[in-house]
Amino acid sequence: VRQRVVIVGAGFAGIDCARRLVNEAVEVTLVDRNNFHTFSPLLYQVAAAGLADSDVAHPVRGLFHDAANVRFRQATVSGVDWRARTVLVSDGPDLPFDHLVVAAGATTSFFGVPGADAHSLPLGSLADAVRIRNHVLRLFEAADADPSRVAAGDLTVVVIGGGPTGVEMAGALTELFSMVLAKDFRRLDVARARVVLVELAGGVLPPFSDRARRHAAEQLVARGVELRLGEAVEEVGPEGVRLRSGERIAAATVVWAAGVRAAGLADVLDLPQGRAGRIEVGPDLRVPGRPDVWVAGDMAGTGLPQVAPVAKQQGAHVGRQIGRLVRGRAVQPFRYRDRGSMATVGRRAAVADLPLRIRLTGAVAWVAWLFLHLLYLAGLRNRATVLVNWTWSYLTWDRGNRLITELPAPAPKRGRTPG
Ligand SMILES: Cc1cc2nc3c(=O)[nH]c(=O)nc-3n(C[C@H](O)[C@H](O)[C@H](O)COP(=O)(O)OP(=O)(O)OC[C@H]3O[C@@H](n4cnc5c(N)ncnc54)[C@H](O)[C@@H]3O)c2cc1C
Repeated sequence: VRQRVVIVGAGFAGIDCARRLVNEAVEVTLVDRNNFHTFSPLLYQVAAAGLADSDVAHPVRGLFHDAANVRFRQATVSGVDWRARTVLVSDGPDLPFDHLVVAAGATTSFFGVPGADAHSLPLGSLADAVRIRNHVLRLFEAADADPSRVAAGDLTVVVIGGGPTGVEMAGALTELFSMVLAKDFRRLDVARARVVLVELAGGVLPPFSDRARRHAAEQLVARGVELRLGEAVEEVGPEGVRLRSGERIAAATVVWAAGVRAAGLADVLDLPQGRAGRIEVGPDLRVPGRPDVWVAGDMAGTGLPQVAPVAKQQGAHVGRQIGRLVRGRAVQPFRYRDRGSMATVGRRAAVADLPLRIRLTGAVAWVAWLFLHLLYLAGLRNRATVLVNWTWSYLTWDRGNRLITELPAPAPKRGRTPG
């Protein structure tokens, strides 16, 4: 009988692992709580109304139409029964395995900052991105009806965290405000809308080269983003944030882009965990003492950065190694091939630190960024719609996805109630 491989998580690691197993003599079950794979590097564009949610997500089943040995199961994994070698799911039958690949990714970490959990909006999932878009656009509608709300911070966004996600979010929001919403809300003084980026380190994009960091900071400032560098957030409340310096910023929107830790599943597996809850693994990505349990991506405690290329390469490695084992060959250690990092600030402004100390900034880096993101996006349809959206926005300075798709719970009606 063929060995059963269960992969938990259809993210970058899980998908690439399953792809490597398509032609192996194994039965693969890929489990995810969502029925889609999310391309997280473009989530900020959904939050800033540049792309639609369906542009950056792809149904998992659609990725494996031609793979006879890969099944998908939509379910939330709640734990593992190690003795019975079964993955426990909170909905439907449990899943027995011969090899288990844990690739459930990461979740937001609020670092215990008071009020951050309750009053800030994280950007970790597709639902988070849509929530931010709805929230910001709703505040513009409310301010249009009652402009006095602008002074109370209704059009101020504080982005916490100056890593790639925070920088990209802040840059995209100022562009949304100045290029698009200023035309939509002609009676509102949109120039008073603020985007403030708070970063603990002395500069934005801490892991990038000095040149990239300088360029990103200059471009953000040129676009109107206010930087608070070397500054910590002490508290987040319903009215805004309080910084360590004592400054209070009134803001109705606080986006948390400051940190991640291993997804909650890592805490219930009874496996040794290291920094930020990541599961400890050996050089081949197996859990020490458990030769049939593999961890890949953001959850794996390898000390490598939590980025998509690491997850993809680790997922592919695990798939290849399971294939080797099935064919009676020895397992090899994992080696990461670092092809550099990129981040974009906005229209014609990006930074790229590439191998051989090649440093790109400005329009060249931006075009490289656009091209690579299109290339890695799953599915031809998504690539086509993203390309159309980007071309349209570039030529017309417009963003078509500024829809408010969720209404808040109705406020109690003021005034006399009839009858
Ligand atoms: C907003 C944002 C922007 C980013 N930008 C970049 C970027 O520009 N470049 C870059 O390289 N990296 C970027 N990253 C990081 C990158 O997305 C991650 O490193 C990568 O997704 C990790 O892959 P993974 O397979 O480990 O996890 P993921 O891709 O997160 O996949 C994990 C999957 O597990 C599922 N899951 C979790 N728990 C359970 C459970 N209990 N049961 C069932 N399913 C579960 C989730 O639904 C998810 O589909 C960004 C991340 C975010 C959040």
